[in-house]
Amino acid sequence: MKNILVITTGGTIAMKYDPVKDAFVPAKSGKELLNSVPGINMFAQLKLVEFSNIDSSEMTPEMMFRLTQTINQHLVRDEVDGIIVTHGTDTLEETAYIIDLLVDSEKPIVLTAAMRGFDELGTDVPTNLLAAVKAASSDSCRNLGTLVVKNDEIHAAREVIKTYTSNVATLESPGYGPLGIIDPDHVIIFRKSIIRETIVAKRIEPNVALYKMSAGNDGSSIDYGLKNNIKGFVIEGLGRGNLPTKAAEKVLRAINLGLPVVLTSRCFKGRVLGLYGGTGGGKKLHDAGIIYGGDLSGPKARIKLMCALGKTSDMLEIKKMFEGGMYG
Ligand code: ASP
Repeated sequence: MKNILVITTGGTIAMKYDPVKDAFVPAKSGKELLNSVPGINMFAQLKLVEFSNIDSSEMTPEMMFRLTQTINQHLVRDEVDGIIVTHGTDTLEETAYIIDLLVDSEKPIVLTAAMRGFDELGTDVPTNLLAAVKAASSDSCRNLGTLVVKNDEIHAAREVIKTYTSNVATLESPGYGPLGIIDPDHVIIFRKSIIRETIVAKRIEPNVALYKMSAGNDGSSIDYGLKNNIKGFVIEGLGRGNLPTKAAEKVLRAINLGLPVVLTSRCFKGRVLGLYGGTGGGKKLHDAGIIYGGDLSGPKARIKLMCALGKTSDMLEIKKMFEGGMYG
């Protein structure tokens, strides 16, 4: 039997309904969580590390970075064959991606979550935990980078996002689909995400902002960020990666100040590319020094910029990290 370490961080998967507050609150300990799945020990020897017990809306980049350090410490131990991280769905896509970028291991690393607490009708806690144990113990899940297992699907950390506020099938990889599935008798992998990468960074730079564009946006939030000493930012632009003129002026100012600015799209499929030469057009922005974020979502590009800035402040190196594989 494989030895799997379960690291709990919180989320609905570890919550209970509190009748006084009339709301779900963090309540279950890691031990309670594992004990709540009958027969789970038949699939692997499970050990537990309780990292935190928070709603994932409280997860911070600093905590995510500490989590990657905890994972690295345990992964080097021979007696650990794989790792499971339980997490809330709200920010799971960011935590999964930072682990994917900063942890380089052949061993399976699997994040899982739930949308319905254990006390709720139709809870998805036991099925997701069991599926995560099966994935983390499977040789098919080695060398695939950090994985997200939910609803019997296996997703790549760089592709998965939360798509639905309420449905249990909330974690999807738009434009790509899952890497594989968990069936009762087998863990089946259909494909590999071949553009995943690792960044060797001893720290991260958490002071990185994300700005989402909308029609008529004047970029005043960018000005606010510049006044508050941000070290770089990601712009979730429109379509192929275009901005309203006033917002573009603020971006150009930031680039002239020497800040790394990464361009992504608020569309959730496809990559950004400068095709338009208007004042806020992606072509003009790229010629001026904006860095293409490829197909990454805004939140994921922000995580990557934090890691990139933790490694280097060399703008060319940062540009290569983002554009190397996809535009080079
Ligand atoms: N509120 C929860 C969270 O911690 C939602 C969930 O876990 O599904 O993100």
